[in-house]
Amino acid sequence: MSTQLKSLLNPEQYEAATNLEGPLLIIAGAGSGKTRVITYRITEMLNQGINQSSILALTFTNKAAREMAGRVKELVGRKLPQLTVSTFHSFGVQILKKHITLLGWRENFSIYDTNDQRSLIKECARELKWSLEYLDFGHCMSTFSRIKTRRSKWSDPEIDDSLQPLYEEYQSHRKLYNALDFDDLIRLPIDLFQQHPQVLEEYRKRYKYIMVDEFQDTSIQQYEMMKLLADGSRNICVVGDDDQSIYSWRGANFDNIRNFERDFPELREIKLEQNYRSTGTILDAANHLIKNNKNRKIKALWTGGDGGKPIELYQPQDERAEARFICDMIQTLNLKEQIHYHDISILIRTNALARGIEEELMARNLPYRITGGTSFFERPEVKDMISYLRCLANPDDDISLLRIMNTPRRGIGKKTLEHMTELAQSQGMSLYGAMQALVLANDSPIGKRARADIEDFLELISEFRPKLLSGKDLAQSLRALIAKIDYWGHLVGEHPNNERVAKFKLRNVELFTSSLEQWEKDPDNLSPSVFNYLNRITLAGKDDDDSEEGKVNLMTIHSAKGLEFDVVFIAGVEENIIPHQRSLEENDAGSYEENMEEERRLFYVALTRAKMKLYLTSCQQRKVMRDLMSMTMSPFIEEIPEKLIDIKEPDTEISEEEAHNYFELMKKKFAAVEE
Ligand code: ATP
Ligand code: MG
Repeated sequence: MSTQLKSLLNPEQYEAATNLEGPLLIIAGAGSGKTRVITYRITEMLNQGINQSSILALTFTNKAAREMAGRVKELVGRKLPQLTVSTFHSFGVQILKKHITLLGWRENFSIYDTNDQRSLIKECARELKWSLEYLDFGHCMSTFSRIKTRRSKWSDPEIDDSLQPLYEEYQSHRKLYNALDFDDLIRLPIDLFQQHPQVLEEYRKRYKYIMVDEFQDTSIQQYEMMKLLADGSRNICVVGDDDQSIYSWRGANFDNIRNFERDFPELREIKLEQNYRSTGTILDAANHLIKNNKNRKIKALWTGGDGGKPIELYQPQDERAEARFICDMIQTLNLKEQIHYHDISILIRTNALARGIEEELMARNLPYRITGGTSFFERPEVKDMISYLRCLANPDDDISLLRIMNTPRRGIGKKTLEHMTELAQSQGMSLYGAMQALVLANDSPIGKRARADIEDFLELISEFRPKLLSGKDLAQSLRALIAKIDYWGHLVGEHPNNERVAKFKLRNVELFTSSLEQWEKDPDNLSPSVFNYLNRITLAGKDDDDSEEGKVNLMTIHSAKGLEFDVVFIAGVEENIIPHQRSLEENDAGSYEENMEEERRLFYVALTRAKMKLYLTSCQQRKVMRDLMSMTMSPFIEEIPEKLIDIKEPDTEISEEEAHNYFELMKKKFAAVEE
């Protein structure tokens, strides 16, 4: 195998893939084969007879993990059920599933995504009798995260300590509901390892070979977790690119590279300098851009490939013309150059830019998938199904219970809910517990009707809970549940004049159910419990969906990290979009300089996703909220040498909107003259 490996890797990559012992650090530019090295390193380990269960590879997204595991399987030609390739978060879940009771939690915990987290904060604020009007949830969540991940303390000057009571309320509620947030998935395993050294020892004994991709974006906590694990064998290989560090707002910190050098001083460093992904032009442009960042490790990056075609920059009138241009181009590329849709990607800085482009793609029947936006799992009807499953798996999960209690309407009214909440609060129990108590109590403060309604609901839970916990025929049970609660009737009732919308929603529910079915029938799936499914989708919803091939990719730059496409469009290359308006001032994330450098890295990531051809679009005007704004080109364009980029003259065609405004103006003028 090793001789074969030699033909698949350059000498430095080969070194990196075959030196399996001791700490190894690879900091190298985009497209230099870092991820490829990890993949081949795993196959090399397996070929040398290292046990698959000793290997742990940590990637940044679930999609990257699936792809890597798939590739390794393909290369070694066998199934690898004991190989662990996962994200930090999924790995955290795996650990907690086994040991969370040691930390005083119950099994079958729920995982809250940002929306659930927001609802919970709201609920806590209400309990504290805080006015919701002035509460900035984004600010709350980022403060809570800083505290939880120990990046800050309440006494720190930049921290708003008036939020402390809310945080404490939040923390105790999630314990009561047996629900974890994303930060807990990393924090609790660290607590576990620190409080129970024998558990840590067990993991160290098992995982003798650890690898981390996209190391520049690991958070301080993730680093801590990784270090605890790796401190046993010290066979740890990390690969990354400081120029692609784009998550500092979330607490990722490329100081980790320095920490790694400090904590593993015996490390060996390997440099990869050849880019295998992009044409000379694209690489040149990216290199010139990133040179303007001061805070970076200087790296060489060259390509043996040819120069390729120039980058093209278009300046459409407005965002509608931009969407039309992009779609025209995609159709041409597909028809004339036989470029597959899935080899094309449209990158956007913020989710808000997706809508116009999506509408145009839809109007033309161009197949597309959207990643990093509002995911399928966040659609209200799908969320209803998820909440039912969650509530059945863990009835103490109040947020899910509140969501489904009256969906469909069950007549559990505000009064009853108040009684429930009061009881739950005074007794320190969940709402579900309170419901049970209210039904059993002799001197129940609630009326007969309400009591019967609650009883019906509790009966529904106790009928379906065992079915779902049995781990068999989950989709079938869910279908039975949907029929039992007459969800269709509910949808029709919600949209009395619009059966089309009701049908669309029901179709999503059916899609959800069949994806559950597919998942549970997958022969590779060794433990199809409802609990595993819920964890999987909560984590997957963070970065991707499971759609198949053959679709144009529409995604945020953040979620394009590590990926590559033949053709890349970057839309909205405008000042205030990239660099983002927020980063033009000092804020929670950092100083102006730091923010600017992060935006530049983001643009660097975007440019380096392209293999063959890059199109940029910069609109002359854009509708922002309701206002039509005049836009200027992103200043980053000027950092790319002129000879690499073909800047097209601005489109002069008058947009419909402008024509309309002009017409109105003229009408007014004439009216004035007539007066
Ligand atoms: P990023 O920084 O964007 O994550 P990366 O350093 O992880 O990039 P890869 O994705 O591993 O780079 O590799 C980029 C592309 O170059 C891939 O298509 C990969 O298969 C190809 N490649 C890397 N090394 C070689 C090689 N030695 N021979 C042929 N192709 C290679
Ligand atoms: Mg990579």
